Amino acid sequence: MRPTVIAGNWKMHHGPAATREFFHDFSPELSDPPPTVVIFPPAISLSAAVESRRGRPEVALGVQNIHWEASGAFTGEHSAGMAVAAGARFALIGHSERRHVFGETDEEVGRKITAALGEGLTPVVCVGETLEERQAGRVDEVILRQLDAAIHPLPEGAPRFFLAYEPVWAIGTGETATPDDAAATHATLRGRLNQAFGPERADEVPILYGGSVKPSNVTELLAASDVDGVLVGGASLDAPSFAAIAEAG
Ligand code: PEP
Repeated sequence: MRPTVIAGNWKMHHGPAATREFFHDFSPELSDPPPTVVIFPPAISLSAAVESRRGRPEVALGVQNIHWEASGAFTGEHSAGMAVAAGARFALIGHSERRHVFGETDEEVGRKITAALGEGLTPVVCVGETLEERQAGRVDEVILRQLDAAIHPLPEGAPRFFLAYEPVWAIGTGETATPDDAAATHATLRGRLNQAFGPERADEVPILYGGSVKPSNVTELLAASDVDGVLVGGASLDAPSFAAIAEAG
């Protein structure tokens, strides 16, 4: 059985003080068995998150990005090992803002996944098409290219990772894929995982949907087939709103 995963990507929001305030107010009543709840604060707020979520072991933490090297002259970056030492268990890799704003390539995404796994961080690998690519009928081509590049460097036996389908046109726009669209795309991704790793191993990979998820649409999205969780941006910044989403998991 795959766990339900409720993940919040804070992007460049919530410094240390706002992070403490969030955790003070965040107290969802999780279902039994509980979903895996992961929050990705800005790296500079990670230690504030570690301190302030004490006593709430049900919330795991992650970083929004890592560099593939272990250390070196890479101003502004942090490595997978540093993220683990600071309290992260997960790393977002290949988020569309990294790809489109910072020019991250498929190859770099692959290197980051290898680095994360090497340090015991679980990668949450993001794939998704732009509106232009969708309108050109290229959804499967784009997401499978991104997925293939991501899993290409993985050794036999495929170590643990999560996948997130995030159509770029749905991120921060208020537009959401319909549950049927999300289910169809997740089935395509699951099919490729089956080919690559065999059904037993592929079955263990949770596939999250992301793109304008909020309390009012999370239940129908989680009910769609092959949607194992959600990756939430804007609606994860507010503690009651993210608690309501976590309670749907
Ligand atoms: C995201 O940043 O991954 C995201 C899905 O954002 P939003 O929920 O705001 O669309």
